[in-house]
Amino acid sequence: MLLRHTPDKITERSALTINPAKTCQPIGAMYAALGIHSCLPHSHGSQGCYAYHRSTLSRHYKEPAIAATSAFTEGASVFGGQANLLQAINNIFTVYEPDVIAVHTTCLSETIGDDIPQIIAKARDEGKIPPGKYVIHANTPSYVGSHITGFANMVKGMVDYFAQANGHRENRINIIPGYVEPCDMEEIKRLAGELGVDIIMFPDTSKVMNGPQTGKYHMFPAGGVTIPELIEAGSSMGTVALGPLASGLAARALDTKCKVPCEILNLPIGLTATDTFIDTLRRIAGVTVPDSINIERGQLLDVITDMQQYFFGRKVALAGDPDQLISLTQFLVDIDMWPIHIVTGTPGKKFEAKIKEITKDVPHPVNVKAAGDLFLLHQWIRNAPVDLLMGNTYMKYIARDEDIPLVRFGFPILDRVGHSYFPTVGYRGGLRLLEKILDALLDRQDRDAPEEGFELVM
Ligand code: SF4
Repeated sequence: MLLRHTPDKITERSALTINPAKTCQPIGAMYAALGIHSCLPHSHGSQGCYAYHRSTLSRHYKEPAIAATSAFTEGASVFGGQANLLQAINNIFTVYEPDVIAVHTTCLSETIGDDIPQIIAKARDEGKIPPGKYVIHANTPSYVGSHITGFANMVKGMVDYFAQANGHRENRINIIPGYVEPCDMEEIKRLAGELGVDIIMFPDTSKVMNGPQTGKYHMFPAGGVTIPELIEAGSSMGTVALGPLASGLAARALDTKCKVPCEILNLPIGLTATDTFIDTLRRIAGVTVPDSINIERGQLLDVITDMQQYFFGRKVALAGDPDQLISLTQFLVDIDMWPIHIVTGTPGKKFEAKIKEITKDVPHPVNVKAAGDLFLLHQWIRNAPVDLLMGNTYMKYIARDEDIPLVRFGFPILDRVGHSYFPTVGYRGGLRLLEKILDALLDRQDRDAPEEGFELVM
């Protein structure tokens, strides 16, 4: 009963977060940078930040999250981090030989006000960046936004530094996948392949953060978007950005810089959002949807129909990232479940309005908050109990305290495996989500059933 002191009475808080529903900007920037082939993310700040960011990513993906740090000490905190970053750039290219260093800032270097583009220019002038190698950057002050904001900023950095228009419109579509698992990126590529659409995906962490065990350590694994692909993204015929908060910024920047038109969609989680994604790719590329995809859709629909009696009217509390929650809430509403408490730690004015719109026909009052926390979610649950929780590992405390089943979904998941190998996007991902939801609900039903009501067949 770790949370037994959570009071039922809700009081307004403006200057205190308890049990946050987000992590900090550089984590998202580091994850995005790992989706560039042969890239070493670099944390411009102290070793403590860097250790926290790496350990969070490594614990979630169960893979080594490589990165470097400017290793600020008292001197850098007072005089600025330029000398540290210049030396770091020199050391990294000499020792590890990546193609790119992707620098992100931290609270400390942002507060000092280090001018990263100026330091990168100085490194180039001093010959510390070898020919054909690159240093890019994103500003990621963690007292603003969340890991989703950091991801968005680093992906925009990829556009700012690399994308170039070559004067032609190539028959190819850019896909910015959003803050999703490596396996989700793989699944999105597979669906585009089924449609016969040529794509460039950036970033792409598949085979980087879910790579195979080969018995040999590769500091820079085979996966990731390449520099030539990032340059060519500026001459694609269009961009499909998945997740407005994580991907919208880069898509709009590419439109402004290279006149590549963009469509910003919800993450393709669940039936409705996947339909929109498939239809958008079909329309932009001028292709027809093959039977293989129609069959996958039909299978998802079949399970929704067959299992409707178990979904109907079950109340759910959700916490996570806004792009994911918007699609997940829509999916739950589509299958007649009732998402009634929804919290994200990432600030954003549109989130609450969108969730209200999606849940307007749910026959129960719905609580929603952006820039909220798990403490508030717990209070809501105590006042209006639910049948199911969906969210990251930190939700397990509420699950235990209130004895409610938890489906792990989102970031970070520190105490289970599978999330980086089995996608939740697309129709197949929808099937996996349904399986997880049903397992949780029916396991609970079996556990609680009296002997005379304990059924062998559902
Ligand atoms: S919140 Fe700021 S100080 Fe804390 S780990 Fe993140 S970047 Fe570092």
